[in-house]
Amino acid sequence: MADKPQSQCIYCGSWKDKLSREHVIADGLKGTIVLPNASCEVCRDVTSAIELHCLRKMFVVFRNTTGLYSKKHKKRRGSSSDFTITIEENGVETVTEVPINEAPAAFLELHLPVPGLINGAAPTTETQVGFGVRALHTDYQERVMKLGDAGLAFTHFELRPRAFLSMLGKIAYSFAIKQLGRDSFTPLVQPLCLNTETRPNTYVGGDWKPPIETPDRPHDLRFYEHDEYVVVRVQLFSEYTSHAYVVVVGTKLEASNAV
Ligand SMILES: [Zn+2]
Repeated sequence: MADKPQSQCIYCGSWKDKLSREHVIADGLKGTIVLPNASCEVCRDVTSAIELHCLRKMFVVFRNTTGLYSKKHKKRRGSSSDFTITIEENGVETVTEVPINEAPAAFLELHLPVPGLINGAAPTTETQVGFGVRALHTDYQERVMKLGDAGLAFTHFELRPRAFLSMLGKIAYSFAIKQLGRDSFTPLVQPLCLNTETRPNTYVGGDWKPPIETPDRPHDLRFYEHDEYVVVRVQLFSEYTSHAYVVVVGTKLEASNAV
């Protein structure tokens, strides 16, 4: 009896009979690009836990208030897109109904230096990060104030920079493999994807080029030309002309090896 063909996990390199497919950008963010036979069970558990944190904590307000990324949320709640905010104080519950078109929508943006491999900065174990809240409405503050205490529920963001940087690594790495093939470069970012990289800023950072207008699509992924490295630009929520990040996913193969 012939053995089942084995495939190699893109993260840990182990050979398995069965690997799961990988959404380059999570299904929960309406990512549509899929890499088949990508991840072993162990690695999948790690990368999906990181992704779930980002989706359910960091971007939950944005996903729900825009309605754009909350397919499952809507299904569960039937036809209503409204929010019910319940605040309990001294045993008294106050319920506030917030229609989706009055909700204060915003998402977090991280401000990062250019990846160390690009700008030549010495590797550091510190995660150098600043962040800002990117509001989607010019009257964001008024919307928050108008809701009183319930408005605070919309301004609560839980940021875990390392998880977000890992997710960016996974997006960029799986995109590069999807587009270029597994044997076209030497990967550098598996530890970043698995959240074991101690120097994430070496590989992932902020974009150094002017913003690109891509209002026609939910996200934008593209390669940057570089002599030595495979470099992927990741712009989530590009329809809002959002902040872009850059990931150095691997080293280009020597020309002699590639022929
Ligand atoms: Zn694996």
